[in-house]
This record gives sequence, C-alpha cells and structure tokens, in this order.
Amino acid sequence: MSKEYKSKTQELKRALFTLFPGLCKGCGLCIEKCPKKSLSWSDTLGVYGTPTVKANDECTACGICQEVCPDCAIRVERMKKVDNEGNKSENTG
Ligand code: SF4
Ligand code: SF4
Repeated sequence: MSKEYKSKTQELKRALFTLFPGLCKGCGLCIEKCPKKSLSWSDTLGVYGTPTVKANDECTACGICQEVCPDCAIRVERMKKVDNEGNKSENTG
C-alpha cells in the first residue's frame, strides 16, 4: 500500500473511471450510492491514508459516484462503443 497523488484511470467495458487519490477521504459514499455495486475499496491510499475506491466492469458510466463524491475525487467518462462496422456511437447501456 502506498500513498499516491497521481490520478488513476481504469479502462472499463463502458467507462473510463478516474480516481484522484489526493482528493479522496475514504468516506465510502460512492460505494454506498453506486446502483451497480461496482465500487469497492482499493489498496491505493487517499489524502488521509485511508483506502480509496476502484470500479469493476459492472459500471454503466451512470455518473452517480461522480455526483455524490463530496470531494470531486471521481471522474467518469462514457466509453464510445464501436459497432461491427467500426462506427463509433454513444454507449447508452
Ligand atoms: S458511474 Fe455509476 S455504475 Fe459506475 S461506479 Fe459510478 S455510480 Fe457505479
Ligand atoms: S471517491 Fe469520494 S465519495 Fe468515494 S470514498 Fe472517496 S471521497 Fe468518498
């Protein structure tokens, strides 16, 4: 476990999930509010030396975690979906 202040981006199936450990105070609100139960505690430590969070592929990029985080420690970007013809479109999933 190490204290880290660089942002960490996870490339998930439907989202780019970025966590800013230097802002996360480990309150757990995002874990509580995620409708997909996609968030869990991570080994990366936050600003107070408490665990931060990580997401898994259940994430639908709904953005609720980003909305509820009191410290703006999460950024969620929707992944563009590439269809069989190679056309990019917004993933509505
Ligand atoms: S974007 Fe939505 S589904 Fe993904 S981790 Fe955040 S709250 Fe959960
Ligand atoms: S990311 Fe935000 S809501 Fe989630 S534990 Fe850290 S400070 Fe709390």
